[in-house]
Amino acid sequence: MQTDRSGRLSLTFKIVLGMGAGLAVGLLLNWVGVSGWVESVLVNGLLHVGGAIFLASLMLLVVPLVFVSLVCGTAALDDVTRLGRVGVKTLGLYLITTAIAVSLALIAATIVQPGAGFELISDASFEAQEAPPLAQVIIDLFPTNPIQAMADGNMLQIIVFAGLFGIALTLSGEPGKRLLKFFDDLNSVIMRLVMLLMGVAPYGVFCLIAKVFALQGFGAMLPLLQYFVLVLVVLVLHALVTYSSLLKTLAGVNPIVFFRKMRDPIALAFSTASSNATLPITLETVEHKLGVNNSIASFTIPLGATVNMDGTAIMQGVATGFIAQAYGIDLLPIDYLMVVVTATLASIGTAGVPGVGLVMLAMVLRQVNLPVEGIALVLGVDRLLDMVRTAVNVTGDASVSCIVAASEGELSREIMRGKTNGA
Ligand code: ASP
Repeated sequence: MQTDRSGRLSLTFKIVLGMGAGLAVGLLLNWVGVSGWVESVLVNGLLHVGGAIFLASLMLLVVPLVFVSLVCGTAALDDVTRLGRVGVKTLGLYLITTAIAVSLALIAATIVQPGAGFELISDASFEAQEAPPLAQVIIDLFPTNPIQAMADGNMLQIIVFAGLFGIALTLSGEPGKRLLKFFDDLNSVIMRLVMLLMGVAPYGVFCLIAKVFALQGFGAMLPLLQYFVLVLVVLVLHALVTYSSLLKTLAGVNPIVFFRKMRDPIALAFSTASSNATLPITLETVEHKLGVNNSIASFTIPLGATVNMDGTAIMQGVATGFIAQAYGIDLLPIDYLMVVVTATLASIGTAGVPGVGLVMLAMVLRQVNLPVEGIALVLGVDRLLDMVRTAVNVTGDASVSCIVAASEGELSREIMRGKTNGA
């Protein structure tokens, strides 16, 4: 049992306990049957309210945290060319790792053939949402009204505005220095708030997990077992092999230490199925436990929450193969390439919230002329896979953050080794 210095159970241990208890209670409720008072009082009452409040309390931190932290981070980067270099490295790594992820998934789906012989349900239907064209995604990076961008929680627009503001701050001499001191203080206060709210995470996580499993159970998984297991295997493979080798070779980081320190964000990503909601604790962990300097972390982590979704790309790769096989449609080599390109680019404009992977899957299927209704085939297990793939998405963000920081000499080995906590 893990305890902190004062002998109390550590927060991570409590979160894991909350997850385990949530799983047990959820499966029990599912077995009893979710109807009557179990449904109205427990599942849609207590568990729903508890989980929703916890999610809201995480989300409320995201906009102020990203803005304030990024203003401080940009101001700390001494020159604008450095900002450009960090941006190119980060985006490059995000795109490359996503392309690797979806390629792995396609290879696995081609070898294992999870959809071969799958019985098609004729009434399968899925309402696909329209995906915005790439040109619009690029135009939309620039806010016309930063307050609107914050009110909408539009991460990419907030990043652009905070970056510009931070640059102006550094160029403003004395007034800039005064304001920066204020932002630094505000940043510490918001980080403190993150830690305060993490205190209730075990209960929030319990409510979220118990509700999902009460409503889902494992029943929906059986007909899709091959698909489900294959996505899981590729997710684990990508996290353990791709990230570990990149961390080791490009940043000289011990993957075991990395994963040990990432336990809280991984547990939270799993429970909330949202990279955005996990963002405050990812940022806290990357800065204060992994040792990435704020100037790099404040940019790479919020950007990654929106742009980098390797786990989601893996689901899309396997799902595309699965749907093609289930409908008996052969994919040509050019189609495979299109899947890789579309799945990689699709992640850029979509926010890290639950279920967004399905919107992206619709884009990919359309691109290779596969029936979009095919998404209905994999819907039954999507929520459970969403939890695991979000954990991979968040792990990917943190890995790239460490690699970029190491290449810029902004990774504290002392903090990484746990000698100090960087607070
Ligand atoms: N839930 C995922 C995330 O927030 C996105 C998805 O795969 O649906 O990163």
